[in-house]
Amino acid sequence: MNTYSVNTQILRVNPEIPEPEIISRASRVLLEGGLVAFPTETVYGLGANALDESAVNRIFAAKQRPFYDPLIVHIAEKRDITLAATDIPELAYMLAEKFWPGPLTLVLKRHGRVAPSVSAGLGTVAVRMPNHPIPLDLIRAAGVPVAAPSANLFTRPSPTSAQHVLDDLGGRVDIILDGGLCLIGLESTVLDLTSDTPTILRPGGTPAEALRETLPELVIAGSHVASENRESKPSPGMMLKHYSPKAKFLLFSGGGENAIAQVQQIAIQLIGQGKKIGLLVTNEEFDQFSGMEAEIEVLGSGTNLAVIGQTLFSRMRALDKKGVEFILMRSLPREGLGLAIGDRLFKAAEQRIIDLDLPINFSDLLSSE
Ligand code: AMP
Ligand code: MG
Repeated sequence: MNTYSVNTQILRVNPEIPEPEIISRASRVLLEGGLVAFPTETVYGLGANALDESAVNRIFAAKQRPFYDPLIVHIAEKRDITLAATDIPELAYMLAEKFWPGPLTLVLKRHGRVAPSVSAGLGTVAVRMPNHPIPLDLIRAAGVPVAAPSANLFTRPSPTSAQHVLDDLGGRVDIILDGGLCLIGLESTVLDLTSDTPTILRPGGTPAEALRETLPELVIAGSHVASENRESKPSPGMMLKHYSPKAKFLLFSGGGENAIAQVQQIAIQLIGQGKKIGLLVTNEEFDQFSGMEAEIEVLGSGTNLAVIGQTLFSRMRALDKKGVEFILMRSLPREGLGLAIGDRLFKAAEQRIIDLDLPINFSDLLSSE
């Protein structure tokens, strides 16, 4: 796969009232087939004209993303759902009315004009209206729907700042619109409306509980969701190693009152073996880990999952920059945004959770399997 090689320009944009001249310049780049990265309320997106097949192919090349992993099409008006999809069920309009603009992506039947590679050759297309003035103004100025996956290299944690985009995609994207930090910090919830029962293919910024108010029959896909409402088929691309820091991520559950002491013991053992370790901790856990010879990143209060969602990817990247070999973290409750956070952690840990209530085999932890 050829890499898209360009001179990347970073333009600071006012996230509340985007400067029209910057937006118009970026929209011209999109219409000429170039790539523009922009902030959204979820994470930074890497945008291309969704109607231009060769522009869309540049996204895959820039991200080194496999072609079987489809992209989300972004629109700036609810009614523009018809630009990307056909045979749109009434339910889609109801959900758009309630949740757009916002972190909810709807999977619908693809409209023939959308570049097929956007959908990885599937007959369906994922559509969302972001809740952020920069992409909304940009899409309106370009006058076309914009395909945009997260603006990170494939398998790296999603970017929540312009610096993260530059770290991963510098020299591979024409313009990075720097509009500051992303408010939610987790990707959108992907909801499939093409199957018999509405199905969450990827938990994200719109909690399942909020969707269930409109969709009592909602099911959640993915083997990671411990629930009787489980279906086997995950979203395309979702079974892959994803959201991974470079370090080996050790995710712990259980342990009750002894959990912190147990994680401390494991950390001490790793340090004793000369390993450089990082800890992702909540405010409440910080004091108990602060004396350790480890890199520590604080996520925020364990009782405020919105803040943890906001900081999670950026703290993972911070630990990676410090060159740690292991990242240790305790799992969090899976309610509300906790389902999306748990999903990202599970993938970072390469689908392995270490149960502190069971005997722990230390050499297993050290191995890369
Ligand atoms: P990203 O924007 O990088 O988080 O990636 C978009 C994700 O949306 C993909 O990895 C898929 O999981 C999901 N997605 C996009 N298009 C479709 C589709 N047509 N059907 C099901 N899932 C999709
Ligand atoms: Mg992504």
